[in-house]
Amino acid sequence: MSDAALHTPPEVIVPFDRSRRTTSSRSTRILNGRFDRLSANQVVEELIRTIHAGQRATLCTVNVAILMMMRSNARLQRFVDSAKWSVADGQPLIWASRLGPRPLPERVTGIDLIDQLCGRAVRENIGVYFLGASDEIARAAADALRTRHPGLDVRGSADGYFGPDEAPARARAVAASGADILFVAMGVPRQEYFIEEQWAHLGARVVIGVGGSFDVIAGLRKRAPAFIQRAGFEWAYRVAQEPRRLFKRYLITNSQFIGLMSWTAVNAALHSRRSFWRSIPRV
Ligand code: UDP
Repeated sequence: MSDAALHTPPEVIVPFDRSRRTTSSRSTRILNGRFDRLSANQVVEELIRTIHAGQRATLCTVNVAILMMMRSNARLQRFVDSAKWSVADGQPLIWASRLGPRPLPERVTGIDLIDQLCGRAVRENIGVYFLGASDEIARAAADALRTRHPGLDVRGSADGYFGPDEAPARARAVAASGADILFVAMGVPRQEYFIEEQWAHLGARVVIGVGGSFDVIAGLRKRAPAFIQRAGFEWAYRVAQEPRRLFKRYLITNSQFIGLMSWTAVNAALHSRRSFWRSIPRV
C-alpha cells in the first residue's frame, strides 16, 4: 500500500447509480463501501497467492457499524478504500447488495477467515502472528487455533495495549518473527491506524484487522449461533453480551444504515422511472 494510495481523497459515489459508479466488475458498491465479490474460499486463495507471489496486501472486513463509522472518519474511509480487498462481514450487507445488479456471494467474517487461513497456513508452511487484546487472550487464541490446526506455525503473539511510542517496536517484533500473516485484533479504527502507520515495518505479507475475534476464539466472548448470523442479528447477540457499551452504537449505526439504504432504493426507483420516460422518442 503506497502512501499516495492512502492519502488520495475518497471519491464521492452515489450508490447503485450506474452513471457514477466506478467499481470494477469484481466489486460491488454499497453506500460508501466497495466490496469484493469473493467467497470466503476465494479470499483465502487470493491471500495465499499474494504470499507465494512475494507481494504484500491488507484486507478489511467491513460490517454495518464500520461502514457507518467510515462516513464520519475520513482516515478510516481512505484506509478501507486503499486496501487490496474489502469484504462484507454481515448479512445485512449481503441483503443490501441484492438491491443492486451485482450481489455479493456470501458473508466473509474476520473470525472465519482466521480459522480458514490458519488451516491453509499449516499446509503451506506459512507462519502467523497474533497481535491484539491482552497478552493472555492473544496467546489463548493462538493456542486454540494450534489445537484446531495441529502444526500451525505461530511465530508470536502480543497484546494490543500499547501507546504510539511503542508501536514501532511492536511492528519490528512482527517483522523479526518472520510471520507472513499478521492478524491485528485491536478494535476499529485503532488496528487500521496501527497497520497504516507501521505498514513499512511489519514485514508480514498479509495483514488483516480482525476486531474482537481473539476474544471469541479464546472463549472470552460467545459468537452468535449460525441461524442468528444468517437472520442478520449477530449485532443483537453482541449487544446482549455488552448492552451498556454497545446498545447506543448499534442503535445509531443500524438506523443510519436502514435510512440510507431506504433513501437509496427510493432514489434508484425514481431514477429508473425517469430513464424510462426519457427513453421514449419525442415526436
Ligand atoms: N483492544 C486492544 N487494544 C486496545 C483496545 C482494545 O488490543 O487499546 C482489543 C480488545 O481487547 C478486544 C479488541 O481490541 O480484544 C476489540 O476491542 P473492542 O471490543 O473495544 O473493539 P470494538 O468492538 O469497540 O471495535
